Amino acid sequence: MIAHGKCKFCHKALNLIVDDGYFELKEKFAKDKIDLDLIKLAACDRCADYQNAKYPIEQRIKKICMNLLGGLIPKVEHEKTREVLTALCQRYMGIVARYKNTPVPIWDAEITDSMMRTPGNFSLILCDVRRMCAQPTLV
Ligand SMILES: [Zn+2]
Repeated sequence: MIAHGKCKFCHKALNLIVDDGYFELKEKFAKDKIDLDLIKLAACDRCADYQNAKYPIEQRIKKICMNLLGGLIPKVEHEKTREVLTALCQRYMGIVARYKNTPVPIWDAEITDSMMRTPGNFSLILCDVRRMCAQPTLV
């Protein structure tokens, strides 16, 4: 059966091939007041690929930042850590720019500098990176 839904990320209309048993199961759960609406969790291929590409990089950045925050990385290794974070953030930026169909912004060393200074803010910094990719650069 074809169900109509939309991508939970970009809201593009989707036609989903759904097993007939899904609707019976959904009704069964509804009797117990459990909302089993899997259709609203659907994502288009483009958004799913984007999420799958950026998630492992976000997790690696998070792990490094948590180790920095916890003082688990000795000072002598900080320069190497900065290089690893730079490589990960640049890769992240490329993935975001490709998804948003914008040119990859010029690298700003402040991204990893601020991550090294305030590793607890890594998610806000990644949010800024995504925002940088959303704005076309003025030449
Ligand atoms: Zn989408």
